[in-house]
Amino acid sequence: MDLGIGGRVALVTASSAGLGKAAAEALAAEGCKVVVSARGAERLERTARELGQSGAEVLAVPADIVDRTTPEHLVAAATERFGRLDIVVANAGGPPRLRALEADDEGVRGAVEANLLTSVRLVRAALPHMRAAGWGRICCITSYSVVLPIPTLALSNLARTGLWAWARTAAGDLAAEGAGITMNLVCPGPHATERALELGGSVDGLMGDPADFGKVVAFLCSEQARFVNGAAVVVDGGVSASPLGLGGR
Ligand code: NAD
Repeated sequence: MDLGIGGRVALVTASSAGLGKAAAEALAAEGCKVVVSARGAERLERTARELGQSGAEVLAVPADIVDRTTPEHLVAAATERFGRLDIVVANAGGPPRLRALEADDEGVRGAVEANLLTSVRLVRAALPHMRAAGWGRICCITSYSVVLPIPTLALSNLARTGLWAWARTAAGDLAAEGAGITMNLVCPGPHATERALELGGSVDGLMGDPADFGKVVAFLCSEQARFVNGAAVVVDGGVSASPLGLGGR
């Protein structure tokens, strides 16, 4: 299926590795021009070169997405280089492991900054360009903790459900505007990224392929997904459907 986004300009944050990189690869494979960003310049340049090998036009902008000025800076860099911005995939590193009753103010603030406010700021910066073009796709990478709180990841549960509440509200407002802009969440379960493997890997032996995940993101950003708006698409192989473990023990 041709996703109908060839020539569109996509910004993917936190994309030098893992799920963000997989999303950037899938969008590049569909013919998008891609802006990638992450903190470490060297790794980012390597990723940009890999993406460019498929013939995609790629711009790499090193930046810490948690810095409050970064979202505007990235949107400005994308529009200066490519003249437009059609697709935003908002991603950031996850918060540290912590049980709910161990959370202090600083931890809560950090998670909200990284896993909620970064997306809100990116959307705020990108929307004027999407409105002007009458077309836009926003996809926030979160976690299956949106639908199944994970006891050892209380900060993730907190920030990502907050983002979900905001994004769903915003999606309704965008629908009312009729500007052709959609906003969805994509909620990964365990996937074989370096970080997930470091943290212990699979849940009940399940482990997704980041490349498959990237294709789901690309579909949500496609022309054909125009009627998918305000959704939280869970990509977890059924883990959240089996809260007592696969087999229901
Ligand atoms: P990861 O930690 O491997 O991050 C990948 C990318 O994020 C890298 O390019 C890294 O440089 C970049 N990054 C991290 N912090 C950044 C910052 N402050 N500014 C700019 N770039 C930054 O993560 P991943 O496994 O690819 O997961 C991506 C997101 O999905 C995370 O929020 C993670 O918590 C969430 N998630 C992942 C899984 C999984 O199994 N991989 C499952 C559920 C949720």
